[in-house]
Amino acid sequence: MKFFSTNDRSHRVSFKEAIFNSLPPDNGLYYPESIPSFSADFFDELKSLSRQQIGFEIARRFIDDEIAEPDLKSIINETVNFNFPLVQVIGQIHSLELFHGPTWAFKDLGARFLSRCMRHFLNEEKQEVTILVATSGDTGGAVAAGFHGIDGVKVTVLYPKNKVSDLQQKQLTTWGGNISALEVDGTFDDCQQLVKTAFLDKELNSQLSLSSANSINIARLIPQMFYYFYAFQQLERWDNVVVSVPSGNYGNLSAGLFSKRMGLPISRFIAASNANEIVPNYLETGLYKPKPSIETYANAMDVGAPSNFVRMQEYFEGSVENMRSLISGFSLSDPKILETMAECYKSTGYVLDPHGAIGFQALKDQLNEDATGIFLETAHPVKFMDVVEKAIPGELDFNSKIAEMENKESVYTSISNSFDDFKSYLLKN
Ligand SMILES: *Cc1c(COP(=O)(O)O)cnc(C)c1O
Repeated sequence: MKFFSTNDRSHRVSFKEAIFNSLPPDNGLYYPESIPSFSADFFDELKSLSRQQIGFEIARRFIDDEIAEPDLKSIINETVNFNFPLVQVIGQIHSLELFHGPTWAFKDLGARFLSRCMRHFLNEEKQEVTILVATSGDTGGAVAAGFHGIDGVKVTVLYPKNKVSDLQQKQLTTWGGNISALEVDGTFDDCQQLVKTAFLDKELNSQLSLSSANSINIARLIPQMFYYFYAFQQLERWDNVVVSVPSGNYGNLSAGLFSKRMGLPISRFIAASNANEIVPNYLETGLYKPKPSIETYANAMDVGAPSNFVRMQEYFEGSVENMRSLISGFSLSDPKILETMAECYKSTGYVLDPHGAIGFQALKDQLNEDATGIFLETAHPVKFMDVVEKAIPGELDFNSKIAEMENKESVYTSISNSFDDFKSYLLKN
């Protein structure tokens, strides 16, 4: 299988090139030249397959023999070593809990898979890379956890000082080994700018082999397909299943679309967004209008120019009509997020995180009586304790969960937001 650039179909690369480049030079995104589909037999047997088998069957169809079968199997086994339970919340509405991995958010899965694929190729060539990640909180933690202990890869995570939660800071700074954390005296945008400048700096690139692990990497989308299949394994009825996806950069929803084309009988998707309602607006008006992002309680989805939108356009051949035939839009304001979390807890006892709350409420509003609804619960509520406390004051005790992190020691280096500081740090370490 080759991957082409959404800006130029004649630019085709291998899986290996796609994961190390992350982005094609023309600033498009890598996209599989075809999306394979499974036979009816595969679906007849789905319920009896293990998580590992399903993951392998999916990944193999995209990676072919670029990674030999036993190696790909062990990559998958290490990637999916946690559970993806489908939990009934109320009536026909189910939560697909994606937060049972090391940093309690779905991004763990993509990071674990990407890191192990990179290790595989690097070990073959006895090479080393340095991965630079700028994070506003969640991505950096998942990447740090996913790459911790991976031979041949050093990771430097940049995060803005005083702008990540205490828990997130713990998840960025307590790894040691091949993971270093840099606290930048500046904003997330400064962090991102430092990383971009580093990729363009000739001297740095002559001494270090730099790479990135951001959410547009195709190796993150492949494992994100797995759990749509795991959800169906756990469902009684497969007719009329609607999947509601809390979305920011639309990687998760893109992976859902790929799963559907592989044959998984999802009947509709809901693009569930916070106040950054770029895609719901597109579905309504046919006009794509990116905007500066707005801060919300569901802050991992505060994205004003969703990077995977071009993949969705590719999938639907640029037609808003095609997209509408499969995806409905939905958005929820901050006050309604709190209301939803409070109301769901009161009526069911289930604690939603602010992102999952948007997915849940979308199903409450849009699900027909005879349909089955699944929303992706993308993070554990403990990661957004301050919001949970606002919605459900004084009710919950997450201390034991938090204690798992608090006992670990933070280690980080402080730098200013100037590129010279960052560069000399990289060259010294
Ligand atoms: C990243 C993230 C999202 C958004 O996922 P996309 O694939 O970018 O749409 C939603 N919820 C949480 C908790 C996240 O960390």
